[in-house]
Amino acid sequence: MSRFFSEKFAALTPYTPGEQPQDMQYVKLNTNESPFPPSEKALRAAAEAMRPLQLYSDPDCRILREKLAARYGVAPEEVLVTNGSDEALNFCFMAFCDASHGAAFPNISYGFYPVFAQVNGVPYEEIPLKADFSVDPSDYVGLRKTIFIANPNAPTGKSLPPAEVERILRSNPDSVVVIDEAYVDFGGESCIPLVHRYENLLVVQTFSKSRSLAGGRLGYAIGNRELIRDLDSLRYSTNPYNVNSATLAIGAAVLDDEETTRANCAVIRENRAYTMDALRALGFEVLDSRANFVFARTPALDGGELYRKLKARGVLVRHFTKPEIAQFNRITIGTRQQMDALLTAVQAILEESK
Ligand code: PMP
Repeated sequence: MSRFFSEKFAALTPYTPGEQPQDMQYVKLNTNESPFPPSEKALRAAAEAMRPLQLYSDPDCRILREKLAARYGVAPEEVLVTNGSDEALNFCFMAFCDASHGAAFPNISYGFYPVFAQVNGVPYEEIPLKADFSVDPSDYVGLRKTIFIANPNAPTGKSLPPAEVERILRSNPDSVVVIDEAYVDFGGESCIPLVHRYENLLVVQTFSKSRSLAGGRLGYAIGNRELIRDLDSLRYSTNPYNVNSATLAIGAAVLDDEETTRANCAVIRENRAYTMDALRALGFEVLDSRANFVFARTPALDGGELYRKLKARGVLVRHFTKPEIAQFNRITIGTRQQMDALLTAVQAILEESK
């Protein structure tokens, strides 16, 4: 830290993203990306529709906002388009939290929440999950804090039915409740249909997972127009051109091809069931997942050791050192071939450690 770095960041611990190794080819199951590239059809359409790069991107993101609005049955004024959903989440911390109205989220969830809280100087409470690693909605009743819940949750993969989210919404009328639906397309139930019933609900989604655009950085928030206006005023106060022209064009083209997205999600769900069965047959405990990853542990091997041994065999998964989950690994669901490579490696590692 230089002597010029503001005191206010003295205690900041930056987010650690999953590895993106550039040195060798791994079976890469560590950052919940899609194994499928965007469709040729979408890429071709995007190339034609792209705004010339010598011009700034559309600060209004009009075409994409209208398409998202039509897709989800809301008005364009109820949609905010962002540079990945991370940006939308950061804006939520900026907009709806402060020293007197802190944030609350599960203690085991997306690791960026505490970082966004810290960087925005927001006090936060981490609420423990239940022993079975699920979120207990009763813990969020009447909290008087801005609530962030990933649903399905990461890294557990478990999800909460919208009726339970409604309990939280109803009991916190003076706080915004942000439902982060990064993984909803793989089997969760979206809360978007509730946005017209609850003025304190914001739903955040991403193109990074089910829509194969992690590298494009595209996300969005859906909620009532006052909330969206608040977030938009922060967007215009930081970077009005927050989404680049290439990404806006490919995002619109991908949205026009929801058939491919649906088909890809169906393959991921099949491969998830296949992987869960196979891991359980090998003695793993695997949490019930509604996402494009599974969270698994085995009594036969320490979680960190399994992570390292898999890496040595060219298979990259995600291991978290937090004590409550250090025995687990989070494994992204990829193609059947990738999952077979994982399972073969796991089997060999278990054999050699007997
Ligand atoms: N929310 C959750 C729960 C996530 O796991 C991720 C992916 N790391 C994100 C949000 C952010 O995704 P992106 O910024 O790529 O949209």
